[in-house]
Amino acid sequence: MTIRQLPDTLINQIAAGEVVERPASVVKELVENALDAGARRIDIDLEEGGIRLIRVRDDGSGIAPEELPLAVSRHATSKIASIEDLEAVATLGFRGEALPSMASVSRFRIVSRQAGAAHGAELRIDGGKPGQVTPQAHPPGTTVEVRDLFYNVPARRKFLRAERTELAHIEDWLRTLALARPDVEIRVTHNGKPLRRWKGDGHLLNDVRLHEALGQEFAHNALAVDQAGAGLRLHGWIARPTYHRASADQQYLYVNGRSVRDRNIAHAVRQAYSDVLYHGRHPAYVLFLELDPRGVDVNVHPAKHEVRFREARLVHDFVYRSLHAVLAQTRAGQAAAPLP
Ligand code: ADP
Ligand code: MG
Repeated sequence: MTIRQLPDTLINQIAAGEVVERPASVVKELVENALDAGARRIDIDLEEGGIRLIRVRDDGSGIAPEELPLAVSRHATSKIASIEDLEAVATLGFRGEALPSMASVSRFRIVSRQAGAAHGAELRIDGGKPGQVTPQAHPPGTTVEVRDLFYNVPARRKFLRAERTELAHIEDWLRTLALARPDVEIRVTHNGKPLRRWKGDGHLLNDVRLHEALGQEFAHNALAVDQAGAGLRLHGWIARPTYHRASADQQYLYVNGRSVRDRNIAHAVRQAYSDVLYHGRHPAYVLFLELDPRGVDVNVHPAKHEVRFREARLVHDFVYRSLHAVLAQTRAGQAAAPLP
């Protein structure tokens, strides 16, 4: 048996298996990068359900030309520098894996310009093989293009579904990301036709992105939540118990702005509704939990879908009590009672 060091391209392709499952994961990672760069507006162009093309353009901070090769290198990130930073991550990204992963399994192009720079620069990578950085005109911000996803990894490409299915997955992620940032304008086209346009004026309850994700009826039945205590804050909207669902399809939970699945919190929500909801029915909500980033470990899952709370019990009880208070208040028709 011979042990050999794998080449970088292959290492990236292996990592891509965890981070880039399908076009929707590429869209998610690129939009998260745009948000981390402080974008106010994000333009997304898709072709053939993202399989043929995903292009994400932002008006964020941009990348210096000499840093473009680093941006697409594995384990290179501007978001953390030490273990202390890792323990208090406030950005959506921090692993430095997304760009190199997708660049190793697609025809990839990044063009970027920092505000104040005379011009932008471009770097193309074909199936993990980088070209040269060349000057390129671009407004301040960044464009990343991912074409022909998995063209060089037939085994992965086989798992891609029909254009409509892949597009539906992309739209799920876009809704999820957009709900957390009603202050950011997002436009999406598919096969050259406008698909979505979310304005970014910051008023989530009136925003089409909320109506598209949870429906007009949810908005009419929404109870505002804004509770704080024990270093935690929970805000957003939950549906009146009279509005319920057959499945858990309208449950959006964010921890420090990151969409996560969390059984502990889901349980706390169920418990708060347990007296007021028919058995087997599911509540609808969009809830944002904010806490000191040191109180939550986001480095649990390569795709960052899960987090781990330092004080899970405290979080559970806080969520339960917050929602219980809001629900009790609607039953009694009284003003909100502050949490103890
Ligand atoms: P991570 O987001 O975990 O740091 P990525 O591979 O997604 O890793 O990106 C690598 C680096 O490239 C980022 O840390 C950031 O410095 C830079 N970058 C990526 N996308 C953008 C963007 N849209 N705008 C500005 N910088 C970006
Ligand atoms: Mg990233």
